[in-house]
Amino acid sequence: TTAPPLLKIDALEAWYGESHVLHGVGIEVRQGEVVTLLGRNGAGKTTTLRSIMGLVGRRTGSIAYEGREMIGLRSDLIARAGIGYCPEERGIFASLDVTENLMLPPVVRAGGLDLPTIYALFPNLKERARSPGTKLSGGEQQMLAIARILRTGARLLLLDEPTEGLAPVIVQQIGAMIREIKQRGFTVLLVEQNFRFAQTVADRHYVMEHGRVVDMVPNSDMASNVERLHEYLGV
Ligand code: ATP
Repeated sequence: TTAPPLLKIDALEAWYGESHVLHGVGIEVRQGEVVTLLGRNGAGKTTTLRSIMGLVGRRTGSIAYEGREMIGLRSDLIARAGIGYCPEERGIFASLDVTENLMLPPVVRAGGLDLPTIYALFPNLKERARSPGTKLSGGEQQMLAIARILRTGARLLLLDEPTEGLAPVIVQQIGAMIREIKQRGFTVLLVEQNFRFAQTVADRHYVMEHGRVVDMVPNSDMASNVERLHEYLGV
């Protein structure tokens, strides 16, 4: 008997106003997996994450988290169910220091990491504990945005392009952070454009095109599918 997936999305359709963006998306993420959504700009990756969080105009289909239907729930209740969302713009408060930013989101469930644990895991953040958001590099802001979710008790992290705009050495640090989070039993669904990076962190990859999932590739098959993936991603 296999456990049901932590997240199971079926026949998901989503709209922004009149604009119909997702056309029957299906995705499964099992407990402890790191899964990426790959695809070109405009393929619907961000909209998929926003749909999970209830941040689109309208959505239909099914989004089951721990077997509970999320469609019809408000965003705050979806967060309370244990899903944490880190948007592309990261949402770090410039006037607050690192510790204040970490403490900001409410704890929604038991089982989150406490501040000492977070600082022990991510010493770069500890070094910057008293630095205001404005003084952080892009990479530090990204780490902080991810670490902040770990405190809330969320078990599923939705990350939108965590490596966007970061230098290669920082991208490696973000990769190490995601692997650490996985070790700790968190589950991650992330949007990526950088498929080399995706290969270093993920168990499986979904490819999206025009608001649909068009392929699923286990990470172990990535190398043998490079040409096909290049075609999808236009690289
Ligand atoms: P990107 O990496 O560019 O964000 P993506 O795969 O995440 O690409 P989405 O951002 O999900 O793609 O966009 C999917 C489609 O939805 C695009 O055609 C986009 O123009 C449209 N779209 C996105 N946000 C909105 C919005 N707020 N209102 C109307 N249309 C939108």
